[in-house]
Amino acid sequence: MDNCIFCRIIAGEIPSMRIFEDDDCIATLDIGPASKGHTLVMPKNHYADVTDGVPEALLGKLLKTAAKIGARQIEKLGAAGFNIVQNNGEEAGQTVRHLHIHVIPRYEGGPKMVGWEPTDPGMDALQKVYEVLKD
Ligand code: AMP
Ligand code: ZN
Repeated sequence: MDNCIFCRIIAGEIPSMRIFEDDDCIATLDIGPASKGHTLVMPKNHYADVTDGVPEALLGKLLKTAAKIGARQIEKLGAAGFNIVQNNGEEAGQTVRHLHIHVIPRYEGGPKMVGWEPTDPGMDALQKVYEVLKD
């Protein structure tokens, strides 16, 4: 995809700090890190997001790579844990429409997770959602 910034990174047209690469994917430092070592794992082929017909084996490989990068953040940066975050669609915070997984290291005393405010919709509302979503 000519106008995709991540495709351009993968093609080497835009500089990046790749910490891992294989035939199918790369892991590169995020230019606006949420914490020290924040890394993006992405496929070399262009998919807009996780619903875009991504082969199952590739999805597995991306997640496995994210886990490997997280373990490296713990081992080499002294992170205490890491979040794996993956946004799909603009309203979910996706700003680059090329599938990618954020691997965000977390450190003692720092923010623990990507946050949300829990709500209490009640059992009736939960039941209605259940009826809509279940198989
Ligand atoms: P998302 O909001 O999930 O689409 O995440 C896009 C991420 O890409 C953001 O965290 C940006 O900081 C990051 N980003 C954008 N441009 C670049 C770039 N040229 N190199 C590295 N990371 C980038
Ligand atoms: Zn792309």
